[in-house]
Amino acid sequence: MGEELEKVKKEAAQIIEDSQKLPRLVVFDLDYTFWPFYCECCYEDEMPYLYPHAMGILQALKDKGIDVAIASRSPTPDIAKTFLDKLGIQSMFVAQEIYSSWTHKTDHFQRIHRKTGVPFSSMLFFDDEDRNIQAITKMGVTSILVHRGVTLGALRQGLKKFAEKSSSSRT
Ligand SMILES: [Mg+2]
Repeated sequence: MGEELEKVKKEAAQIIEDSQKLPRLVVFDLDYTFWPFYCECCYEDEMPYLYPHAMGILQALKDKGIDVAIASRSPTPDIAKTFLDKLGIQSMFVAQEIYSSWTHKTDHFQRIHRKTGVPFSSMLFFDDEDRNIQAITKMGVTSILVHRGVTLGALRQGLKKFAEKSSSSRT
């Protein structure tokens, strides 16, 4: 398993190195983006696990100096934070916005922006729900819909889209 993690991390690092332009902040949803379950359906004493590529991507981003944050509408932030802690990654995130909301995460992103000072145009976002992707795209964030969690393919797609958007919007 350690070997597989190293392999994913190395490939993620290569994808980042090959990118024309990098975001300053990468934001992840949790349920069905980072891990394959709704944490509201779990108990705090369970041992959580991530999608296979998630940890390698996270570590590669941090190694390359790119900040990471969480935007989740989970109604059980206590369970989510316990899980992040158990996975040993809680301290990696510069912002953790985890609370249920009637908006499609627009308030989550306003808060992330206020906390980090990073403009929306310098953020990249991964989520498994199309309505969130649509709402956050409108704010100016490069947003990628994932189907079976965040993968190396999604990272490649996201960084490509981010670079294209940056070059076309240069004034
Ligand atoms: Mg989700």
